Amino acid sequence: MSIIDIDKTYIAGTYNRFPVEIVRGKGSEVWDANGKRYIDMGSGIGVTAFGIADEGWQAAVTAQLAQVQHMSNLYYTAPGARLAKLLCERTGMKKVFFANSGAEANECAIKVARKYAAEHKGAEYHVILTLENSFHGRTLTTLAATGQEHYHELFQPLTPGFVSIPAGDVDALKTAVATYKVAGILFECVQGEGGVVPVDPAYIHAMAALAAQEDILLMVDEVQTGNGRTGQLYAYQHYGITPDVVTTAKGLGGGLPIGAALLGDKVQGVLGFGDHGSTYGGNPVCCAGAYHVLSRIDQDLLAEVRRKSDYIFGRLQGAPGIKSVSGLGLMVGIETVKPAGEVLRACLERGVLCLTAKHKLRLLPALNIPPSILEEAVEIILDVCKEN
Ligand SMILES: *Cc1c(COP(=O)(O)O)cnc(C)c1O
Repeated sequence: MSIIDIDKTYIAGTYNRFPVEIVRGKGSEVWDANGKRYIDMGSGIGVTAFGIADEGWQAAVTAQLAQVQHMSNLYYTAPGARLAKLLCERTGMKKVFFANSGAEANECAIKVARKYAAEHKGAEYHVILTLENSFHGRTLTTLAATGQEHYHELFQPLTPGFVSIPAGDVDALKTAVATYKVAGILFECVQGEGGVVPVDPAYIHAMAALAAQEDILLMVDEVQTGNGRTGQLYAYQHYGITPDVVTTAKGLGGGLPIGAALLGDKVQGVLGFGDHGSTYGGNPVCCAGAYHVLSRIDQDLLAEVRRKSDYIFGRLQGAPGIKSVSGLGLMVGIETVKPAGEVLRACLERGVLCLTAKHKLRLLPALNIPPSILEEAVEIILDVCKEN
Protein backbone atom coordinates (compact mmCIF):
# COMPACT_ATOMS: atom_id res chain seq x y z
CA MET A 1 0.00 0.00 0.00
CA SER A 2 1.24 3.51 -0.75
CA ILE A 3 1.42 6.07 2.04
CA ILE A 4 -1.52 7.86 0.44
CA ASP A 5 -3.61 4.65 0.53
CA ILE A 6 -2.60 3.85 4.13
CA ASP A 7 -3.50 7.39 5.15
CA LYS A 8 -6.86 7.23 3.38
CA THR A 9 -7.60 3.87 5.04
CA TYR A 10 -6.52 4.63 8.60
CA ILE A 11 -6.68 8.37 9.21
CA ALA A 12 -10.01 9.99 10.04
CA GLY A 13 -11.30 11.77 6.99
CA THR A 14 -11.10 15.35 8.26
CA TYR A 15 -8.56 16.58 5.70
CA ASN A 16 -9.04 16.79 1.96
CA ARG A 17 -5.33 16.38 1.22
CA PHE A 18 -3.70 17.05 -2.13
CA PRO A 19 -2.19 13.91 -3.70
CA VAL A 20 1.34 14.89 -2.70
CA GLU A 21 3.51 13.19 -0.10
CA ILE A 22 6.12 15.60 1.25
CA VAL A 23 9.24 13.78 2.42
CA ARG A 24 11.76 16.50 3.19
CA GLY A 25 12.48 20.20 2.98
CA LYS A 26 14.98 22.96 3.59
CA GLY A 27 13.92 26.52 4.27
CA SER A 28 11.17 27.45 1.82
CA GLU A 29 11.67 24.46 -0.47
CA VAL A 30 10.18 20.99 -0.01
CA TRP A 31 10.36 17.80 -2.02
CA ASP A 32 7.76 15.10 -2.55
CA ALA A 33 8.20 11.32 -2.70
CA ASN A 34 8.86 11.52 -6.46
CA GLY A 35 11.64 14.06 -6.01
CA LYS A 36 9.58 16.98 -7.29
CA ARG A 37 10.50 20.34 -5.74
CA TYR A 38 7.95 22.84 -4.45
CA ILE A 39 8.25 26.36 -3.07
CA ASP A 40 6.38 26.49 0.22
CA MET A 41 4.21 29.61 0.30
CA GLY A 42 2.04 28.32 3.15
CA SER A 43 4.64 27.35 5.77
CA GLY A 44 2.33 24.79 7.34
CA ILE A 45 -0.38 27.47 7.72
CA GLY A 46 1.96 30.07 9.14
CA VAL A 47 3.76 27.67 11.47
CA THR A 48 7.28 27.17 10.14
CA ALA A 49 8.25 30.81 10.66
CA PHE A 50 11.86 30.17 9.57
CA GLY A 51 11.06 27.46 7.08
CA ILE A 52 11.59 23.71 7.16
CA ALA A 53 14.46 22.19 9.13
CA ASP A 54 15.99 25.58 9.94
CA GLU A 55 19.44 24.97 11.40
CA GLY A 56 19.32 27.39 14.34
CA TRP A 57 15.89 26.17 15.41
CA GLN A 58 16.96 22.55 14.99
CA ALA A 59 20.03 23.13 17.16
CA ALA A 60 17.93 24.74 19.92
CA VAL A 61 15.40 21.91 19.81
CA THR A 62 17.88 19.04 19.66
CA ALA A 63 20.03 20.49 22.45
CA GLN A 64 16.98 20.55 24.70
CA LEU A 65 15.90 17.10 23.47
CA ALA A 66 19.19 15.73 24.75
CA GLN A 67 18.68 17.40 28.17
CA VAL A 68 15.09 16.71 29.14
CA GLN A 69 12.18 16.33 26.71
CA HIS A 70 9.35 16.67 29.20
CA MET A 71 8.72 17.24 32.87
CA SER A 72 5.41 17.61 34.59
CA ASN A 73 4.42 21.12 35.52
CA LEU A 74 5.10 20.13 39.15
CA TYR A 75 8.77 21.09 38.62
CA TYR A 76 10.69 24.03 37.18
CA THR A 77 12.43 23.82 33.82
CA ALA A 78 14.42 26.61 32.16
CA PRO A 79 13.05 26.88 28.58
CA GLY A 80 9.48 27.84 29.54
CA ALA A 81 10.65 30.36 32.14
CA ARG A 82 13.05 31.98 29.67
CA LEU A 83 10.46 32.05 26.90
CA ALA A 84 7.82 33.61 29.18
CA LYS A 85 10.33 36.31 30.22
CA LEU A 86 11.16 37.10 26.60
CA LEU A 87 7.46 37.21 25.60
CA CYS A 88 6.74 39.65 28.44
CA GLU A 89 9.80 41.80 27.70
CA ARG A 90 8.85 42.06 24.02
CA THR A 91 5.18 42.91 24.65
CA GLY A 92 4.86 44.52 28.07
CA MET A 93 2.50 41.73 29.10
CA LYS A 94 3.00 40.40 32.62
CA LYS A 95 2.41 36.65 32.76
CA VAL A 96 2.18 33.73 30.36
CA PHE A 97 0.15 30.54 30.36
CA PHE A 98 1.51 27.91 27.98
CA ALA A 99 -0.82 25.62 26.06
CA ASN A 100 -0.28 23.41 23.01
CA SER A 101 -2.35 25.00 20.27
CA GLY A 102 -4.17 28.13 19.24
CA ALA A 103 -7.55 26.83 20.32
CA GLU A 104 -6.21 26.03 23.78
CA ALA A 105 -4.59 29.45 24.10
CA ASN A 106 -8.01 30.95 23.35
CA GLU A 107 -9.68 28.60 25.85
CA CYS A 108 -7.35 30.04 28.47
CA ALA A 109 -8.23 33.61 27.45
CA ILE A 110 -11.93 32.80 27.76
CA LYS A 111 -11.45 31.28 31.21
CA VAL A 112 -9.48 34.35 32.30
CA ALA A 113 -12.26 36.65 31.06
CA ARG A 114 -14.98 34.66 32.82
CA LYS A 115 -13.08 34.55 36.11
CA TYR A 116 -12.04 38.21 36.00
CA ALA A 117 -15.60 39.35 35.26
CA ALA A 118 -17.11 37.07 37.91
CA GLU A 119 -14.75 38.51 40.51
CA HIS A 120 -15.14 42.15 39.48
CA LYS A 121 -18.71 42.42 38.23
CA GLY A 122 -20.58 39.20 38.99
CA ALA A 123 -20.89 35.77 37.42
CA GLU A 124 -23.69 36.91 35.10
CA TYR A 125 -21.07 38.97 33.23
CA HIS A 126 -19.90 36.03 31.17
CA VAL A 127 -20.61 36.97 27.56
CA ILE A 128 -17.66 37.06 25.16
CA LEU A 129 -18.14 39.22 22.09
CA THR A 130 -16.44 38.04 18.92
CA LEU A 131 -16.55 39.32 15.36
CA GLU A 132 -18.50 37.87 12.47
CA ASN A 133 -16.24 36.04 10.02
CA SER A 134 -13.71 35.30 12.79
CA PHE A 135 -11.92 32.04 13.48
CA HIS A 136 -10.81 31.03 16.95
CA GLY A 137 -10.41 27.25 16.86
CA ARG A 138 -12.13 23.87 16.69
CA THR A 139 -12.90 22.95 20.30
CA LEU A 140 -16.56 23.28 21.23
CA THR A 141 -15.90 26.54 23.07
CA THR A 142 -13.63 28.15 20.47
CA LEU A 143 -16.11 27.04 17.78
CA ALA A 144 -18.75 28.97 19.70
CA ALA A 145 -16.37 31.94 19.62
CA THR A 146 -15.87 31.52 15.86
CA GLY A 147 -18.27 33.86 14.07
CA GLN A 148 -18.93 31.61 11.08
CA GLU A 149 -22.15 29.59 11.24
CA HIS A 150 -21.05 26.85 8.88
CA TYR A 151 -18.52 25.61 11.44
CA HIS A 152 -21.28 25.31 14.06
CA GLU A 153 -24.03 23.41 12.30
CA LEU A 154 -23.14 19.79 13.05
CA PHE A 155 -22.00 20.23 16.65
CA GLN A 156 -24.84 21.74 18.62
CA PRO A 157 -25.11 22.60 21.40
CA LEU A 158 -21.93 24.66 21.61
CA THR A 159 -20.69 26.38 24.76
CA PRO A 160 -23.13 29.19 25.53
CA GLY A 161 -22.17 32.81 26.20
CA PHE A 162 -20.78 33.92 22.83
CA VAL A 163 -22.22 36.67 20.65
CA SER A 164 -20.70 37.68 17.33
CA ILE A 165 -21.09 41.19 16.01
CA PRO A 166 -20.26 42.71 12.60
CA ALA A 167 -16.65 43.92 12.40
CA GLY A 168 -16.34 47.64 11.73
CA ASP A 169 -19.77 48.64 13.08
CA VAL A 170 -19.11 50.76 16.18
CA ASP A 171 -22.84 51.29 16.85
CA ALA A 172 -23.45 47.52 16.85
CA LEU A 173 -20.53 47.18 19.26
CA LYS A 174 -22.00 49.76 21.63
CA THR A 175 -25.44 48.16 21.41
CA ALA A 176 -23.97 44.72 22.20
CA VAL A 177 -22.11 46.08 25.22
CA ALA A 178 -25.32 47.75 26.43
CA THR A 179 -27.44 44.63 25.77
CA TYR A 180 -25.30 41.78 27.08
CA LYS A 181 -23.36 41.33 30.28
CA VAL A 182 -19.98 41.27 28.59
CA ALA A 183 -16.78 39.85 30.08
CA GLY A 184 -14.49 40.27 27.09
CA ILE A 185 -14.04 40.97 23.40
CA LEU A 186 -11.98 38.49 21.40
CA PHE A 187 -10.83 39.41 17.91
CA GLU A 188 -8.18 38.98 15.21
CA CYS A 189 -6.57 42.16 13.82
CA VAL A 190 -6.52 40.45 10.42
CA GLN A 191 -9.10 37.69 10.00
CA GLY A 192 -7.03 34.84 8.59
CA GLU A 193 -9.37 31.94 7.96
CA GLY A 194 -12.09 34.50 7.19
CA GLY A 195 -10.24 35.45 3.99
CA VAL A 196 -7.27 37.57 5.15
CA VAL A 197 -9.51 40.52 6.02
CA PRO A 198 -7.89 43.34 8.03
CA VAL A 199 -10.19 44.81 10.66
CA ASP A 200 -10.63 48.60 10.33
CA PRO A 201 -8.03 50.31 12.59
CA ALA A 202 -10.63 52.88 13.74
CA TYR A 203 -12.84 49.99 14.88
CA ILE A 204 -9.91 48.37 16.71
CA HIS A 205 -9.39 51.67 18.55
CA ALA A 206 -13.12 51.85 19.33
CA MET A 207 -13.06 48.32 20.79
CA ALA A 208 -10.01 49.20 22.89
CA ALA A 209 -11.56 52.43 24.19
CA LEU A 210 -14.92 50.84 25.04
CA ALA A 211 -13.27 47.85 26.68
CA ALA A 212 -11.14 50.13 28.89
CA GLN A 213 -14.14 52.30 29.77
CA GLU A 214 -16.41 49.36 30.67
CA ASP A 215 -13.75 47.16 32.29
CA ILE A 216 -14.25 44.55 29.58
CA LEU A 217 -11.19 42.49 28.65
CA LEU A 218 -9.65 43.28 25.28
CA MET A 219 -8.37 39.96 23.98
CA VAL A 220 -6.45 39.73 20.72
CA ASP A 221 -6.20 36.38 18.94
CA GLU A 222 -2.71 36.50 17.44
CA VAL A 223 -2.57 32.81 16.64
CA GLN A 224 -2.08 33.53 12.94
CA THR A 225 -1.08 37.22 12.94
CA GLY A 226 1.54 36.88 15.68
CA ASN A 227 5.26 36.25 15.80
CA GLY A 228 6.33 38.61 13.04
CA ARG A 229 3.78 37.53 10.46
CA THR A 230 2.34 41.00 9.84
CA GLY A 231 5.58 42.99 10.06
CA GLN A 232 5.30 43.68 13.79
CA LEU A 233 6.04 41.09 16.47
CA TYR A 234 2.30 41.02 17.24
CA ALA A 235 -0.26 42.63 14.95
CA TYR A 236 -1.87 44.67 17.75
CA GLN A 237 1.42 46.60 17.93
CA HIS A 238 0.49 48.26 14.62
CA TYR A 239 -2.39 50.05 16.37
CA GLY A 240 -0.83 51.27 19.62
CA ILE A 241 -3.40 49.46 21.75
CA THR A 242 -2.75 47.62 25.02
CA PRO A 243 -4.67 44.35 25.12
CA ASP A 244 -5.49 42.61 28.38
CA VAL A 245 -4.90 39.19 26.84
CA VAL A 246 -2.94 38.16 23.74
CA THR A 247 -3.17 34.60 22.49
CA THR A 248 -0.69 33.09 20.09
CA ALA A 249 0.47 29.76 18.66
CA LYS A 250 1.21 28.78 15.02
CA GLY A 251 4.50 30.57 14.16
CA LEU A 252 5.68 30.72 17.77
CA GLY A 253 6.82 27.11 17.85
CA GLY A 254 8.49 27.16 14.45
CA GLY A 255 6.89 23.76 13.79
CA LEU A 256 6.41 22.23 17.23
CA PRO A 257 3.07 22.52 19.02
CA ILE A 258 2.87 25.40 21.46
CA GLY A 259 0.26 28.00 22.31
CA ALA A 260 0.43 30.86 24.77
CA ALA A 261 -1.95 33.24 26.47
CA LEU A 262 -0.16 36.43 27.50
CA LEU A 263 -1.81 38.21 30.40
CA GLY A 264 -1.62 41.97 30.86
CA ASP A 265 -1.46 44.12 33.94
CA LYS A 266 -5.13 43.90 34.88
CA VAL A 267 -5.43 40.12 34.65
CA GLN A 268 -1.97 38.97 35.64
CA GLY A 269 -3.23 37.62 38.96
CA VAL A 270 -6.50 36.10 37.76
CA LEU A 271 -5.29 32.52 37.41
CA GLY A 272 -4.36 30.89 40.70
CA PHE A 273 -3.31 27.38 41.72
CA GLY A 274 -5.51 24.78 40.09
CA ASP A 275 -7.52 27.23 37.96
CA HIS A 276 -6.03 25.97 34.72
CA GLY A 277 -3.38 23.57 33.56
CA SER A 278 -2.03 21.41 30.78
CA THR A 279 0.07 18.24 30.85
CA TYR A 280 2.20 19.26 27.90
CA GLY A 281 1.86 23.02 28.36
CA GLY A 282 5.29 24.66 28.44
CA ASN A 283 7.00 21.55 27.12
CA PRO A 284 10.75 22.28 27.31
CA VAL A 285 11.53 21.16 23.74
CA CYS A 286 8.74 23.28 22.25
CA CYS A 287 9.76 26.23 24.45
CA ALA A 288 13.43 25.95 23.50
CA GLY A 289 12.44 26.08 19.81
CA ALA A 290 10.03 28.96 20.43
CA TYR A 291 12.69 30.92 22.34
CA HIS A 292 14.96 30.62 19.32
CA VAL A 293 12.17 31.72 16.96
CA LEU A 294 11.18 34.70 19.11
CA SER A 295 14.75 35.90 19.61
CA ARG A 296 15.28 35.96 15.84
CA ILE A 297 12.23 38.15 15.21
CA ASP A 298 14.10 41.42 15.78
CA GLN A 299 13.66 44.84 14.14
CA ASP A 300 15.80 43.83 11.12
CA LEU A 301 13.69 40.75 10.48
CA LEU A 302 10.45 42.72 10.87
CA ALA A 303 11.75 45.31 8.35
CA GLU A 304 12.58 42.42 6.00
CA VAL A 305 9.01 41.09 6.38
CA ARG A 306 7.63 44.53 5.50
CA ARG A 307 9.92 44.82 2.46
CA LYS A 308 8.88 41.42 1.16
CA SER A 309 5.26 42.35 1.78
CA ASP A 310 5.66 45.55 -0.26
CA TYR A 311 7.20 43.51 -3.04
CA ILE A 312 4.33 40.98 -3.08
CA PHE A 313 1.62 43.65 -2.96
CA GLY A 314 3.40 45.74 -5.60
CA ARG A 315 3.78 42.80 -7.96
CA LEU A 316 0.27 41.36 -7.54
CA GLN A 317 -1.96 44.43 -7.21
CA GLY A 318 -3.61 45.22 -10.52
CA ALA A 319 -1.99 42.26 -12.33
CA PRO A 320 -4.05 40.41 -14.97
CA GLY A 321 -6.43 37.87 -13.42
CA ILE A 322 -6.12 39.42 -9.94
CA LYS A 323 -9.08 41.40 -8.59
CA SER A 324 -7.62 42.53 -5.27
CA VAL A 325 -4.92 41.84 -2.71
CA SER A 326 -5.55 42.11 1.03
CA GLY A 327 -3.65 41.51 4.24
CA LEU A 328 -0.73 42.78 6.24
CA GLY A 329 2.94 41.83 6.11
CA LEU A 330 3.46 38.28 4.92
CA MET A 331 -0.19 37.42 5.43
CA VAL A 332 -1.65 37.89 1.97
CA GLY A 333 -5.09 37.19 0.50
CA ILE A 334 -5.54 37.29 -3.26
CA GLU A 335 -8.92 37.57 -4.93
CA THR A 336 -8.47 35.91 -8.32
CA VAL A 337 -10.66 36.01 -11.41
CA LYS A 338 -10.45 32.22 -11.63
CA PRO A 339 -11.74 30.24 -8.64
CA ALA A 340 -9.03 30.20 -5.95
CA GLY A 341 -9.15 26.40 -5.76
CA GLU A 342 -8.31 26.19 -9.45
CA VAL A 343 -5.39 28.61 -9.05
CA LEU A 344 -4.14 26.65 -6.05
CA ARG A 345 -4.15 23.36 -7.98
CA ALA A 346 -2.41 24.92 -10.98
CA CYS A 347 0.25 26.38 -8.65
CA LEU A 348 0.72 22.96 -7.04
CA GLU A 349 1.20 21.47 -10.50
CA ARG A 350 3.86 24.11 -11.20
CA GLY A 351 5.63 23.53 -7.91
CA VAL A 352 4.24 26.22 -5.60
CA LEU A 353 2.34 25.31 -2.44
CA CYS A 354 -0.31 27.93 -1.63
CA LEU A 355 -3.31 28.06 0.71
CA THR A 356 -6.83 29.32 0.34
CA ALA A 357 -9.00 31.22 2.80
CA LYS A 358 -12.67 31.35 1.86
CA HIS A 359 -12.75 32.46 -1.80
CA LYS A 360 -9.18 33.79 -1.82
CA LEU A 361 -5.76 32.41 -2.48
CA ARG A 362 -3.72 32.87 0.70
CA LEU A 363 0.05 33.18 1.09
CA LEU A 364 1.85 32.76 4.42
CA PRO A 365 5.48 32.21 3.39
CA ALA A 366 8.29 31.73 5.88
CA LEU A 367 9.45 35.09 7.26
CA ASN A 368 12.99 34.41 6.00
CA ILE A 369 12.05 33.17 2.54
CA PRO A 370 14.99 34.11 0.26
CA PRO A 371 14.00 36.95 -2.12
CA SER A 372 14.94 34.93 -5.21
CA ILE A 373 12.66 32.05 -4.19
CA LEU A 374 9.87 34.47 -3.29
CA GLU A 375 10.18 36.09 -6.73
CA GLU A 376 10.12 32.70 -8.44
CA ALA A 377 6.89 31.78 -6.61
CA VAL A 378 5.23 35.15 -7.24
CA GLU A 379 6.00 34.93 -10.99
CA ILE A 380 4.40 31.47 -11.16
CA ILE A 381 1.32 32.70 -9.26
CA LEU A 382 1.05 35.68 -11.64
CA ASP A 383 1.37 33.37 -14.61
CA VAL A 384 -1.29 30.98 -13.32
CA CYS A 385 -3.69 33.84 -12.52
CA LYS A 386 -3.45 35.40 -15.98
CA GLU A 387 -3.74 32.21 -18.08
CA ASN A 388 -7.06 31.53 -19.75
C1 LIG B 1 -5.34 28.57 13.45
C2 LIG B 1 -6.05 29.50 14.32
C3 LIG B 1 -6.59 29.09 15.56
C4 LIG B 1 -6.57 27.66 16.00
O1 LIG B 1 -5.29 27.20 16.22
P1 LIG B 1 -5.03 25.62 16.44
O2 LIG B 1 -3.58 25.55 16.79
O3 LIG B 1 -5.38 24.94 15.17
O4 LIG B 1 -5.91 25.21 17.57
C5 LIG B 1 -7.19 30.05 16.36
N1 LIG B 1 -7.25 31.33 15.99
C6 LIG B 1 -6.74 31.77 14.82
C7 LIG B 1 -6.83 33.21 14.48
C8 LIG B 1 -6.14 30.87 13.94
O5 LIG B 1 -5.67 31.30 12.76
